[in-house]
Amino acid sequence: MNGNSSTAGKPIRCKAAICRKAGDRLVIEEVIVAPPSRHELRIKIICTALCQSDVIFSKLVDPPAIYPRILGHEAIGVVESVGEDVTGVKPGDTVIPTFMSDCGDCADCHSEKSNLCSTLPFNITPYMPREDKTRFTDLNGNPLYHLFYISSFSEYTVVDKNYFVKIDPSFPPDRACLLSCGVATGVGAAWRTAEVEPGTTVAVFGLGTIGLAAAEGARLCGAKRIIGVDVNPDKFEMGKKFGLTDFVNPKTCGDKSVSEVILEMTNGGADYCFECVGMASLVEEAFACCRHGWGKTVVLGVDKPGTPLKFSSTDVLRGHKILTGALYGGLKAKRDVPILCKRYLDKELQLDEFVTHSVKFEEINKAFDLLEEGKSLRCVIWMDK
Ligand SMILES: [Zn+2]
Ligand SMILES: [Zn+2]
Repeated sequence: MNGNSSTAGKPIRCKAAICRKAGDRLVIEEVIVAPPSRHELRIKIICTALCQSDVIFSKLVDPPAIYPRILGHEAIGVVESVGEDVTGVKPGDTVIPTFMSDCGDCADCHSEKSNLCSTLPFNITPYMPREDKTRFTDLNGNPLYHLFYISSFSEYTVVDKNYFVKIDPSFPPDRACLLSCGVATGVGAAWRTAEVEPGTTVAVFGLGTIGLAAAEGARLCGAKRIIGVDVNPDKFEMGKKFGLTDFVNPKTCGDKSVSEVILEMTNGGADYCFECVGMASLVEEAFACCRHGWGKTVVLGVDKPGTPLKFSSTDVLRGHKILTGALYGGLKAKRDVPILCKRYLDKELQLDEFVTHSVKFEEINKAFDLLEEGKSLRCVIWMDK
């Protein structure tokens, strides 16, 4: 065990927001956070942001639903103590937890092409990545389950050494926490997965935080035209600061499908399409209006597990188009998050514009209301203010 603080090696009693039942408001309770085991570190959370997936998991009835659970997976914190076999990080360091492993040592981590670490593959479990156990218990000694290996709606949490990236402590924490999930996913999808080139045309389906971040990523890469697709017309104005140049509302397309409208607007299709809603039919629409010859469609939305996609094999053969998914936007946390931080400090990458609200930890349910009412992009929840 390695740590300077008086708490190292001991359980910590602190506050956490718990989702006890599907659809319930979160309740703040005292919990016990175990000390980090081998390969783990315990973090004191500075602030955390609410992502759409937290809302989805707070209402989920069927598996992978499990309760009681500590949600939250966009965060930044300070290392309180580290377990055995953890190198390169020490108590007092500032870190961002991530939901994808970056072991740095497997075939995927060695490859420039993949961020799907094969040592600890992406998986939705309610436990730690290396063993089916939790590090949280309530005051009755019952387990409280994890979400995405992060569970940041707690003053302290335990994460695995493959699931964090160290950052400069002077970086604004309420901007840094966005790089754990949503904003990083959208920006990464344009930058690392699609590799959007200057002068190209992009279509983004769904203008929530991930879609707007995909637009922002495309803008950063120099796309000339960025077409946003959303049923809420207010999103066009909101999206302009992230580079949107055009807008299509599926409700006002008349007899035409969205893909037909975009094919006409672009004279043959967009170079890059991003599906950010999680609807199989929209993936098909996006694929239909990405340009033949080289068009690339990137799927970021999460549809119900097992939902099939329908394509004509002749169209696939003749179209020469690419369809791919991009967990975490294809980013490798340890390589890419520091680059995104630098681009923010150099005033290239916009992060401030995504933070529309902030609340105290006690008001965490307000963050849920704001997101569900469509009023916020990211609401930052401060643990200590
Ligand atoms: Zn790996
Ligand atoms: Zn998320």
